[in-house]
Amino acid sequence: MPRFEGDHIVTTLGSIPIDATKGDQPVPLSLFLKLVRYTAHMRLAERMRRIEIESAFDVLVKARALEAKGRSVIHLEIGEPDFPSPPHVVAAAKRALDEGWTHYGPPQGLPELRDAIAAYVSRTRAIEVSGRHVCVVPGGKPIIFFPMLALLEPGDEVIYPDPGFPIYRSMIRFLGATPVPVPLIEERGFSFDLDILRDSFSAKTKMLILNSPENPTGGVIPAEDVRAIAAMVSERDLVVLSDEIYSRIFYTPEAPASIASLPGMLEKTILLDGFSKTYAMTGWRLGYGVMPEWLVDAVNKLMVNSNSCAASFTQRAAIDALNGSQQEVEHMVEQFRQRRTAFCAALNEIPGFSCLPPAGAFYAFANVKATGMPSKELADLLLERAGVACLNGGSFGAHGEGYLRFSFANSIENLLEAARRIKAIAGKWQEGNS
Ligand code: PMP
Repeated sequence: MPRFEGDHIVTTLGSIPIDATKGDQPVPLSLFLKLVRYTAHMRLAERMRRIEIESAFDVLVKARALEAKGRSVIHLEIGEPDFPSPPHVVAAAKRALDEGWTHYGPPQGLPELRDAIAAYVSRTRAIEVSGRHVCVVPGGKPIIFFPMLALLEPGDEVIYPDPGFPIYRSMIRFLGATPVPVPLIEERGFSFDLDILRDSFSAKTKMLILNSPENPTGGVIPAEDVRAIAAMVSERDLVVLSDEIYSRIFYTPEAPASIASLPGMLEKTILLDGFSKTYAMTGWRLGYGVMPEWLVDAVNKLMVNSNSCAASFTQRAAIDALNGSQQEVEHMVEQFRQRRTAFCAALNEIPGFSCLPPAGAFYAFANVKATGMPSKELADLLLERAGVACLNGGSFGAHGEGYLRFSFANSIENLLEAARRIKAIAGKWQEGNS
């Protein structure tokens, strides 16, 4: 933006500073003034200062730059299954294209898919929902964005887990609402301390976000805690956003409990789930929300104003994902289970590292406080010196400082090689500690 400095108007043309009132302007004054008007006109909205990004994409760019220089990098930064989408789902998408499912569909989603989702959610959460409560959207993320856009006013408070998926905080701040992070406690398997959670509610609390299994910690909220949380919110005028995108990826005997299953909670819960993680379909962009009907209406309007609808042929294929064989899902989760055991054991062999095997998702959230290094510096060091890309826990919130997130959506050979490489440079932080 141009600005006044004393009598001078100062701006930049690209990176070249221009002082319009000096004799050495690189452009004629008339052109300069047009430029001033242009840059003033193109100023971004104030809210864009409050939107954030996911650091996984940043680290990926840095890692790719190293690879372009010929360095070997093991990618443990990105949160997506390394498995192909199930072949029967791919075949169904091809069939749908051939059959002409290439047009707009209803903004809320194809009725057949909404019914299939309703049956699936009713089955997996032991509740009764109908297709009327389902909104099909491009990916899970719009079920964070749209309900927040529909509900939050400046000044409203939103409680969410810290460390947590960075998009929660980004969207809360973007909309002018107030983020209220609640720490996850490592000793509780990265679940809440219920007293701290209880104290976080205020008259301004409009939304509570739960994410179980959780990104970045892999934590699962114990069923009795879910019941206690439901009791906390039952008397309050607020909405729960239950992000269950990792619902099928768990290593506990029982599936993670959903707050939506508890009596009275369906009327105040937005259940987020989708196809990205369960069916290794991140690139298809297909997710859904199950919510009270009054909110369905608002989300539909936001869909009409933004996407019109999710792609029709992908929706047809998604019916096959839900109703067809689940063998690929089971195979993938079994592979994750084996990798989790082997990788966490290998991480625990590294001086200064300790890692509890996660209860769900495909992330190892290693405590690296004993290295004595800030986790951002350590993550940079691992990338530059060991060729291992991972994420700084601090990028998921203040309570993630001192941890690193490793995605184990990679082959067991690569995971063990990554741990070996990290161990080989452990001297770098051990020296500093001695
Ligand atoms: N919620 C959480 C907790 C996630 O980790 C992700 C993806 N990383 C999403 C939602 C969004 O999923 P999608 O790719 O389907 O938009």
